[in-house]
Parts: sequence; structure tokens; C-alpha cells
Amino acid sequence: MKSPLVIYWSRRDFRLADNPALLAALLHSKKENIPFLPIFILEDYMTEGNPIHQFGLPSRWFLSRALPDFASQFKDFVIYKGKAVVTLKAIAEHVDVTVYVNDDVYVDFYTQVEKLQAAGITVHVSEDALSVPKDTRSQEGKLYSVFTPFKKNVWVKFVSTKVQKKAEVTDVLTLTRAERQLLPKEVVATTEALEVEFRKSRLLQAGKHIIDLDTLTAAPEFQDWYISEAEALERFKGYLQSGDLDGYRKNRDSLELDAVGAGKTSKMSLALAWGLVSSRTLVSLIQRHFEESFDNPFSSRVSEGALTYISELIWREFYRYQLFHHPELMDTEFQERFRGTIAWVEDKTAEARFIAWIKGETGYPVVDAAMKQIAETGWMHNRSRMVVASILTKNLGVDWRWGQEYFRAALIDLDEASNNGGWQWGASVGADPKPIRIFNPELQAKNYDASGAYQKRWLESDKNFSLLAPSVPIVEHKTAREEALKRYGLSKEEPRDY
Ligand SMILES: Cc1cc2nc3c(=O)[nH]c(=O)nc-3n(C[C@H](O)[C@H](O)[C@H](O)COP(=O)(O)OP(=O)(O)OC[C@H]3O[C@@H](n4cnc5c(N)ncnc54)[C@H](O)[C@@H]3O)c2cc1C
Repeated sequence: MKSPLVIYWSRRDFRLADNPALLAALLHSKKENIPFLPIFILEDYMTEGNPIHQFGLPSRWFLSRALPDFASQFKDFVIYKGKAVVTLKAIAEHVDVTVYVNDDVYVDFYTQVEKLQAAGITVHVSEDALSVPKDTRSQEGKLYSVFTPFKKNVWVKFVSTKVQKKAEVTDVLTLTRAERQLLPKEVVATTEALEVEFRKSRLLQAGKHIIDLDTLTAAPEFQDWYISEAEALERFKGYLQSGDLDGYRKNRDSLELDAVGAGKTSKMSLALAWGLVSSRTLVSLIQRHFEESFDNPFSSRVSEGALTYISELIWREFYRYQLFHHPELMDTEFQERFRGTIAWVEDKTAEARFIAWIKGETGYPVVDAAMKQIAETGWMHNRSRMVVASILTKNLGVDWRWGQEYFRAALIDLDEASNNGGWQWGASVGADPKPIRIFNPELQAKNYDASGAYQKRWLESDKNFSLLAPSVPIVEHKTAREEALKRYGLSKEEPRDY
């Protein structure tokens, strides 16, 4: 008879606090005195830099630091390499495995779970990816497709979801060295060892083109972005102490503030995307800071900034909810009327424009500044993300899927659901599309970077750059707007110029 083993299968949840699968695994192991083994499985798509299964250089860079950091907190933590199902089945040949794992919003994850269960492995899936029920429906029993009614429905649930305690991971029974040696080969949990596993290439697939980012932009500097669970929590507490959250509603769109480092947004996206903190924990810290439950979103008594911040966290839930229910969204428009109907510019023009956009050479200064920001740091302000998505799709007429792929390859805070939702929103083809917006880059710069600080910050290295005499855009906005109307089949009245 095989001896029992409890496995916590870590995926994108590198935290000890409020980690439901980890807590459940520990409880089982301690209650029944069964050895506990936390693991991560390094799958081929993560290491190989294949543009088809995009796992960008920023993700590879971050993982090679976050994994050893997370692993070091456990008595034993094992990294395996290979396909998840194959690896877990190989372990199950030697021990009687029970797997605990947090849920996800991808179909692939559920397929993996089914395959494991079919092989006789017990798998417990904990709810974590969303803090509100995945099956949230309207009174008519329908799934939501518009944000505001979804938010109204889930608000109270979202602010009242309980945060689970921090896991105690050292006082546990572990496998003996001899028992571990029977299991598949381990990868050493150090950054150096992991970096050997990861390819350094930066390839990207856009339509039928394979684009090598190394030929377009210098390798980015990610150093400032590295953060552990403890640091992420400290950073957020500092954000609350600074009072910046109070001004969040007013300031969150300001590119000027972003440029001068005064922040005003929390920069928690990386920590949330990699599961270093849960959104539940952020909400509970906000509640503690303001000594307020925030269960009434219409109350005028409470901090407007905090209400807006919670609302943004619910956008994140909304996009996860959409991707969970509509996995086809990764490459299909939410809006049926736009499926296969938009006449994107012909291929050669699209390729040239896409490359100019990546390099920050569109001639629209605010767009070029934003594209330099992402190329140099792996991160971009939300206002800029909206602007560059609208300009690529509307002004330059390039398919939103290409933009989505570039962000997948370039973002350090990549969250597939938010990225997909953001791109579909930017292209006005997604859930909650109204009004259809055509961003005017000059107007955007005037409204959100009036002093030009953001544009100067990112374009100053270009000797020819002058805000007073910017270069000529590759497509002049007025013409671009008219072309976009035709491309989308819209009447002149329908879209608003933003
Ligand atoms: C085209 C496009 C692509 C995007 N891709 C991503 C992505 O890959 N990963 C990602 O985390 N966010 C993405 N966003 C959303 C948003 O731009 C970032 O979450 C935000 O800029 C992160 O900065 P912050 O942490 O300072 O945000 P804050 O303003 O401090 O917001 C706090 C948190 O709320 C969530 N949030 C804020 N705005 C949004 C939003 N519009 N949609 C969903 N969640 C939001 C994020 O988790 C964020 O960290 C994208 C938006 C667009 C328009």
C-alpha cells in the first residue's frame, strides 16, 4: 500500500496570507499526520519563450525571483519541470496523493483537474481567483455583460468576503529524503538555477508575423519591480498612510503625477497578478485604515477615493468573470456585431504601423511616451493603456489581438483577464462597450498631461523631441477618425471623441 501525501500545488499564488488552498492542505496534513509537500510545476510554455504560448520575458524574470523567495519560507518546497498532469501522475505512482490547488479562470486549468481526477488523484479546488461567486447572475438568471449592474450585484459580497489567516508552514511533517528521491527530478529553487531553465528570447506572434522584440527595443529594466509578499503588504500600508487613496478618484488618471513619481495609483497590479496579495486583503486593509465597512457604495460619508479604488478592484473581478464564462474571448470579440466584421488595414501596412507603435514612433507624443514607458519598465499607466489601445485599433487600424499579444509579451503585471478586457474595451468590441470611444491623442495629452511632464519624462532621450513642434503622426487624427468609422461600420454620430 502507498503512503499518503498532501500536496499544495502553487500556481499564481505566492503568498502565505489568505491562501485558501494552502490553508486547506495544511489543515489536512496536520489533522491526519500526513506528510505535506508544497510544489510548483514549471511547464514548458513558461520556460521556452514560444510566441504561440506567450509567457513573456517579464513573466520569466519575475518567476525566477518570486519562486525561490516563496519556496524559502517552507521547510521543503519542490519545483518540478514538465507537464502538470504528467508530473502529478508520476508522483502518484509512488504515493497516495491528495492535491490542494486554488482555482483559476482558464479552461486549461479545469481540463488538467479533470485529467487528474480521471487518473484517480483526489483534487480539492479552492475558490480564490474571484472574491465573488463565479456564477453571479441577474434576477433574470442571466450572466452579466455590463459592468455597473454587475458591480451593484457583487459590491456587498466583495467588501464582506472574509480574509483567511496567514498559514503556518514550518511546523509540518515532511517526506524523508529517501521518499523524495523516488519522485520526479527536482529543479533547484534558486534564481540562478531557474534562469538557466528560462530562454531569454522576446518573440511575439502578431497575425502571421513572428516579431523579435530584441530587434525593436532594448531589453527592459525590471529591477525596481521586484517585490515579495511582505514588501507588497508594506507598500500598500504605506500607500494608505500617505493619504494618496483619498485623492484616488481625482488623481488616478493623471499622467503628470505618474511622471513625477508622485504615483497616486497604488502600483499593486504586479502583486495582485502574481498572487502576492489577494484583493480581499487589500479591501480589509482599506477597511481597517478608514474604520469603515464600505458596504454602502452610495454613502457620501466615506472616502470617495477608497470607493473608486474598490470599484477598480471589481473591474478586475468583472474581467475574470467574463473570461471564465467566455474562454473564447482571448481571440474573439465579445460583441457579436464586431466578430469578423471590422476591416483592419491590410497586412503590410498593419505590420509597419504595429512596429512603429511598439517602438514609440507613431508621431503622437503621448502614445510614443507611453510605449517607451512599457518598453523600458514593463509597466504602463492605466490612462496610457487605454490611449495606446484606442490609437492602435482606431487610428492605426491594427487588430486588437496584436496589441494584446504585445502587452502579453511586455507587461510585468500581466493578468490575462484584465489585459484581454482592457484590449476589448480599448477596441470597443468587448463587454460594456458603450459609448464607443475614439480617443483623440491631443485631447488626452491636454487633459491628463497638461504640463507635458509625462511626455518629456519618456521622450527626453530623443534629441529631436519638442512638445512645441512634435513630429507628424503616421496618420493624422481627423483622417484616422473617419477611416475608423468606416472600418467599424459606424455612423458619424455613434462614437464620441475623447
Ligand atoms: C489595454 C489594457 C491592458 C491592461 N492589462 C492589464 C494587465 O495585464 N494586468 C493588470 O493588472 N491590469 C491591466 N490593465 C488594467 C490597469 O491598467 C492596471 O491594473 C493598472 O494600470 C495597474 O496600476 P495600479 O496597480 O497602480 O492601479 P490602481 O489604479 O492602483 O488600481 C488598483 C488595482 O485595481 C485593479 N485595476 C485598476 N484598474 C483596472 C482596470 N481598468 N481593469 C482591471 N483591473 C483594474 C488592478 O488590479 C490594480 O492593481 C489593463 C488595462 C488596459 C486598458
